[in-house]
Amino acid sequence: MTATGGTYRELVKRWRRLHDGGTLTLREIPCAPSGPTLLCAEMGDPSGPAVAIAAGMHGDEPAGAWALLQLAESHALDLQCSYRLWPCTNPTGYEAGTRESIEGLDVNRTFGGAGGSPEAAAVLETNRDTAFALSLDLHEDCDATGFYCYEYGGAQLGRRVIAALEARGFPIDPLEITFGLAGPLDGARCRRERGRIVADALEEAALIGGLSYTLAIARSARYALTFETPSPAAWRLRVAMHRTAVPAAIARLLEESAKTPSKAP
Ligand SMILES: [Zn+2]
Repeated sequence: MTATGGTYRELVKRWRRLHDGGTLTLREIPCAPSGPTLLCAEMGDPSGPAVAIAAGMHGDEPAGAWALLQLAESHALDLQCSYRLWPCTNPTGYEAGTRESIEGLDVNRTFGGAGGSPEAAAVLETNRDTAFALSLDLHEDCDATGFYCYEYGGAQLGRRVIAALEARGFPIDPLEITFGLAGPLDGARCRRERGRIVADALEEAALIGGLSYTLAIARSARYALTFETPSPAAWRLRVAMHRTAVPAAIARLLEESAKTPSKAP
């Protein structure tokens, strides 16, 4: 494995191996006519809470894509949930090592309407069949000094995630300097604390000039979070942060689902 995980081909090969071994069902969703398909994996208990996890939205943020693969390979995703996994939502950007897709689009601003990019259109169309209890999107931030997250849905899954990372000694971004560089959200438009930003989804969408994956799914999902790892940190550390954060959010969701069962026994 290289310092950035591996090539897109290697990533695809590993996901196909999980399908062939019976760990999950892998589909390849048609996307741009001449471009690569999008991988879409499903696993877990279909009657459990539906969880969507996406990675690779920005091609220069590879840690989430490899962390998601390793979570599936190591059977670290609790099978009480029903998962839809998007291993890499911007394959052409991943291959080029660029934030944007080969068409020069920031895919994570194209989730409005039916989708303003082939990738977003394919994801939105596929996800339409499910009301997700939890959505996670795995990113990286070149200005961050530690892990942080955006959280929508009014719960406090993010705090549980931060606590899990702290317990393992991972750095948490205080969201002071990073936050100033992060974009149009300012202190008047969101609540922020160490490692966690809580914003109003509609207001943020207006500010960034397009819907991100998380903002789009937050309209129907109960909880939606975006995780950010610091890209200047060591590769193993960044992957380990996502591998810690994802199960922590899922554990919190399952605790809550146990308290409020959605169906009769
Ligand atoms: Zn990103």
